[in-house]
Amino acid sequence: MKYHIDTIPVWDAYHEGGECPLCNLENRIEKSYVESFLGGSVMEPDTRIEVNQIGFCPHHFKLLYDAQNRLGLALMTHTHLKEFMEKFEKHCNAVLKASKTRNASTLSSIIKGRKEIQQLTVEFEEWLIKQHEQCVICNRMSNTMNRYAYTILYLWDTEKEFKKTLEASKGFCLKHLLLTIKISRETLPAHKQALWLADVIPIEIKSFQGLEQELFQFINKFDYRNQNKPLGSAKDSLPRTIQKLTGKFID
Ligand SMILES: [Zn+2]
Ligand SMILES: [Zn+2]
Repeated sequence: MKYHIDTIPVWDAYHEGGECPLCNLENRIEKSYVESFLGGSVMEPDTRIEVNQIGFCPHHFKLLYDAQNRLGLALMTHTHLKEFMEKFEKHCNAVLKASKTRNASTLSSIIKGRKEIQQLTVEFEEWLIKQHEQCVICNRMSNTMNRYAYTILYLWDTEKEFKKTLEASKGFCLKHLLLTIKISRETLPAHKQALWLADVIPIEIKSFQGLEQELFQFINKFDYRNQNKPLGSAKDSLPRTIQKLTGKFID
């Protein structure tokens, strides 16, 4: 797999600081994708086709709904719903047809009918799970995040200044550490994958140790004897720890 590099947003995300530059980037692109789907300009026909086919996951439907362009969202949802219903009815009709074979008269046709309904139920279940989870915004975000993770690996491999910046950073949240490992496996030769791990793992351990100490300091502040002790950077250690563990910003 080959990805295009996109260095400017990656440098910006490192300059922004925080627990994970890929969280900074993900947060930014999510906002811009949600806005673009509800923007004043009419969506490209290709995008409309994609939305009609795929729709949005629960999380992104909620973000789109909260963005307050109810007419735009209602129009998109209506055409998606119509396309969904066509496929839904096809699946339902197949399941209903098979379920009628319960009234079959011979033993072999009853067994055959049972197998068929079991098979169709599994297929129907899998199809419903897919409908529930698939999402145009998630797909786009995933492609872009792969590209950013690849850019980080590329810059780490080719630019000394970037390597220094990365080593002075707090590493990544778990979700995005995993992403960099996956992209390194897909794009780098084995010896470079090993070098990446050798560079990034000590940064992660140091970063987790720092968070643990800050969180401990935050907890101790609740003891009245420590009321006057300054908290400093430990003040927001709880949301930063949650972000580090999950890849989600807590506002
Ligand atoms: Zn992250
Ligand atoms: Zn989504």
